[in-house]
Amino acid sequence: MQVTFSAEEREFREEVRAFFRDEYPEDIREKQAQGAELDPEDQVRWQQLLHAKGWAGINWPVEYGGTGWSPVQKYIFATEEANANAPIIIPFGLSMVGPVIYTFGNDEQKQRFLPDILASRVWWCQGYSEPGSGSDLASLKMRAELAGDHFVVNGTKTWTTLGQHADWIFCLARTNTDVARRQEGISFLLVDMKTPGVSVKPIILLDGTHEVNEIHFDNVKVPVDNLVGEEGKGWTYGKVLLQHERTNIAGVARSRYRVRRLRKQVQKSVRGASPLAGDKNYMRRLAAVEVELKSLEYTELRTLAAVASGNAPGPESSILKIKGTEIQQAIDMLYLQASGYYALPYVPDQYAPDFSGETIGEGLETQSALRYFNNRKASIYGGSNEIQKNIIAKHVLGL
Ligand SMILES: Cc1cc2nc3c(=O)[nH]c(=O)nc-3n(C[C@H](O)[C@H](O)[C@H](O)COP(=O)(O)OP(=O)(O)OC[C@H]3O[C@@H](n4cnc5c(N)ncnc54)[C@H](O)[C@@H]3O)c2cc1C
Repeated sequence: MQVTFSAEEREFREEVRAFFRDEYPEDIREKQAQGAELDPEDQVRWQQLLHAKGWAGINWPVEYGGTGWSPVQKYIFATEEANANAPIIIPFGLSMVGPVIYTFGNDEQKQRFLPDILASRVWWCQGYSEPGSGSDLASLKMRAELAGDHFVVNGTKTWTTLGQHADWIFCLARTNTDVARRQEGISFLLVDMKTPGVSVKPIILLDGTHEVNEIHFDNVKVPVDNLVGEEGKGWTYGKVLLQHERTNIAGVARSRYRVRRLRKQVQKSVRGASPLAGDKNYMRRLAAVEVELKSLEYTELRTLAAVASGNAPGPESSILKIKGTEIQQAIDMLYLQASGYYALPYVPDQYAPDFSGETIGEGLETQSALRYFNNRKASIYGGSNEIQKNIIAKHVLGL
């Protein structure tokens, strides 16, 4: 896709490029290049650098410290950020609870929470899913019973990404069971993770990483001041948040970057073998992914334009989520195939950042397998792709 930039936009692009060239810390850049896991401190430091530049709240309204960028500026930023292979900003504060608080929260909540989210002084996690309530989220059982000036919260949240580092969790909890529809009686609560009765239990994934958790709530006292918006309206707020989340998951600029690197790498001969570019079947598969990606770019720009005019992303974000994650996983597969049997063995030591094997282009060959396995999650989290198809059928196509 050719987007024609104005002189101001080209100037902006230069400013963004200069930022990534000069301000992106060398140690984090190196870890990213190696495909090594970032420490929470790295994540915080990176977001704080963006914040210092005024670039943390990319989609936030200016009155709350957002950039006020046009869709084209956001497109430019996302492109340059992906080209620099900069870390993905942890979304739970900036892209999820932040927009819910500035849209539905009261003034006291806005003042109390938004500055810390922008400046990455507080780490948030997302408490939606429960054991037995994932796709069918409205069946959630976490109970929050009003007792004077606080709620008493009991229940379990699961798959809570990076909850082990979190200071706060935002939860959907049932405040009323006497309702006509299951979606009613659910409220949106902000919970300090240090409150007595909150405990975090790790879930170790197939690739050996500790990325997700189960979080238990045992008679946890949550002040009524931490209820966002109206009691019983949490389902509506939670849906808005999910639309932001799904738009975010698409990761178009990153996929473009990965495909471009792959295209370069397949021209090279690795270990004396002929360059993969000579394999017509492989190149056809690569081209098919590129075509899909180009179409998705237009859809993403349309969504960005809608958000810029003050709307939430809407149910169309489900289209971005499905296509974006299908493309990501297709690219994972192309990397895996390009690595051939060098991607096969799961030898944990080989995933160490200092392993000096030959690369196929994006980190180490063995990491293509690691990434392939880890990224199976992309078509599950944020609501599985099957559920997104149901949403599109009902709310976009009106079937
Ligand atoms: C790595 C990872 C990180 C996550 N992080 C978080 C987090 O931080 N916070 C959080 O709250 N949640 C998180 N989740 C949870 C995620 O949102 C759920 O896993 C997801 O919604 C699916 O729910 P489930 O796992 O209960 O699967 P189920 O709902 O049991 O679904 C199982 C399968 O059945 C299919 N299915 C179910 N219902 C239907 C239907 N009606 N029509 C068609 N197909 C259907 C699904 O698509 C899926 O393939 C995470 C999940 C993963 C894997």
